[in-house]
Amino acid sequence: MKLEILNYGHPMLRKKRRPISDITEATRQLARDMLDTMYDAVGVGLAAQQVGRTEALCVVDIPPGLDVVEEDGPPQNPDVPMPLILMNPEILESEGSIKGTEGCLSFPEIHLEIKRSETIRLAYTDLAGARCTIEVRGFLARAIQHEIDHLDGILFIDHVSEVRRLGMGGQLKRIKKETLEKTKEGRVQENGGLNRSA
Ligand SMILES: [Zn+2]
Repeated sequence: MKLEILNYGHPMLRKKRRPISDITEATRQLARDMLDTMYDAVGVGLAAQQVGRTEALCVVDIPPGLDVVEEDGPPQNPDVPMPLILMNPEILESEGSIKGTEGCLSFPEIHLEIKRSETIRLAYTDLAGARCTIEVRGFLARAIQHEIDHLDGILFIDHVSEVRRLGMGGQLKRIKKETLEKTKEGRVQENGGLNRSA
């Protein structure tokens, strides 16, 4: 089932993760719904906060064409099965530093150059409850770092300079305004319900 993606300005995006201690049917359903939502939005990653939840859960799926340094080059992470469903993810080690372009499903039409670690060693719990450790590099490593940031209430604009943020102030304001308007509409509907019952 497709869920609604919350955009910049929604307070949920600043909430921090709640560790997952039990993998229940609801957890599995949330993971499936997040994958559906991510594919529908043609994204490569999605974190629980972006659909209004706080479980320490994110999903990532990098298509083969993006898991390369240059077009038609060899895959960077041939042994990592996609999609990745990451519960309680934790970066154990990171190496290198590289700039690259990122987008975010919660920031429509905004792309930013962000510096990230080039390679990371990551521990996570899979849907079967097993604790796994993998080493990933390149764009996949970037996407996972972006999603883990979301789980900690950190957004990709937090990584750019004040000057750069001011430079895109208009775009950010527009997204925030739309988000607040949507939230308000929700509230009006709720109040309407209350009025009817009064
Ligand atoms: Zn994002």
